[in-house]
Amino acid sequence: MPNRANMKLECNFFTGSARILNQETTMDAIRDLAKETGREDPFYVLDIGDIVQKIKIWRLKMPRVKPFYAVKCNDNQTVLELLAALGTGFDCASKAEIKKILDLGVDRSRIIYAHPCKPASHLRYAAKEDVSLMTFDNETELHKVKAYYPNAQLVLRIRCDAEDSQCPLGIKFGALPEDAGALLATARALDLNIVGVSFHVGSGCREPSVFQRAIATARQVFDEAQELGFKPNLLDIGGGFPGTRNNTLDEIAEYVNNSLDEHFPEGCGVKVIAEPGRYVVASAFTLATYVMAKREVCDDNGTFLSAMYYINDGVYGSFNCTLYDHQEVYPVLLEDKGPEESYTPCSIWGPTCDGLDQVVSEAKLPQLACGDWLVWPEMGAYTLVAAGSFNGFPLPSVHVVVPHHTWLYLEEFMGSVVNFKQIDGACVMMGSSENDQQQLHESGSGSSSLTTRW
Ligand code: PLP
Repeated sequence: MPNRANMKLECNFFTGSARILNQETTMDAIRDLAKETGREDPFYVLDIGDIVQKIKIWRLKMPRVKPFYAVKCNDNQTVLELLAALGTGFDCASKAEIKKILDLGVDRSRIIYAHPCKPASHLRYAAKEDVSLMTFDNETELHKVKAYYPNAQLVLRIRCDAEDSQCPLGIKFGALPEDAGALLATARALDLNIVGVSFHVGSGCREPSVFQRAIATARQVFDEAQELGFKPNLLDIGGGFPGTRNNTLDEIAEYVNNSLDEHFPEGCGVKVIAEPGRYVVASAFTLATYVMAKREVCDDNGTFLSAMYYINDGVYGSFNCTLYDHQEVYPVLLEDKGPEESYTPCSIWGPTCDGLDQVVSEAKLPQLACGDWLVWPEMGAYTLVAAGSFNGFPLPSVHVVVPHHTWLYLEEFMGSVVNFKQIDGACVMMGSSENDQQQLHESGSGSSSLTTRW
């Protein structure tokens, strides 16, 4: 165990380094980083405490549903290592994502290959690594699975769309419930193994009651599968859970829990999982950007109309989320710049030469100068994963912070499964092995909501 008296503020969090926050906040950490001499590249602050809190809340609100984090949402190494240590599962969309998770020492049983349309080589890789749980939604995929991985455990993804969501997915994936019977019959004829049903109501779901509809429909498909002689034992309720702090899990959790009680009551032998992405990471990442240039727009008389601020991250970088993920982003000032009455109209642009690279079309901000920093909260979901360095602008770096209380909590929770080491006075946490995880879950120390068995 680390000697707290000697513990420096900087400590290694698994493979990276993290700063322990005592009384400070994420904004204080950003302020300190922004002040560093010569810093002019964008950066993120990742608050580990936010993710730990999210997992705790999840377990409290939906204790029967084990989260399999959707790696596609943000594949930051610290996030994955943290979740691996906390015992979640992982939803992987490709060979590379599966490899990333296996490389962490996570057991293959904690992975679902949740892409209904898989390249043959990725399927062969899954077979080689024996990552057997996977989704499908069409007949072609069944033949492919028969050819490359006949022992796979197949989960039929059905379509059930929320009436309103940030990113609807049903247009691309999910078998219509009325087509499920034919697919199940084909699977039977091919002697394949159907183990469950999944759905994804749409990412950023804005109709919580859709989970009631979807779980009821999944029950019907379970019954059809059973009639055909399959023994399905897995329900996967997908993603769609809110990521922002002002949007709680409560409403969705109520629909999920009630529907599970009705259609898949406890003790019925069906394991329930979900594939949350946004929920886990959105609010844990705060982006800091730097005003690198500025222009003023004036009318014919030279009267100021608005300012154009050019920042060092844009739609080809983190703000790709405004295009692909339909996210609305809003800046926060790092330093107080006087009363709001003095704010003036402006637009905010990314750093590239492309006219499309606009981050915010209309805002009201105080007059900013080159070198001022703008902060963008809740930027963890579908940002860095899809960002590129178009025009040669670098991707933001990620700086990890751990609130002191979270650090103590992790130390208590993971003390038995993670080696804490003192190296040069700093604290280093070594990743936990699958055996250690097993021990933790079996020991069921019960002192923490995270140690409850899923
Ligand atoms: N599962 C699958 C198959 C997905 O395609 C996605 C998102 O696209 C997710 C899970 C994660 O969804 P969310 O971020 O809404 O939780």
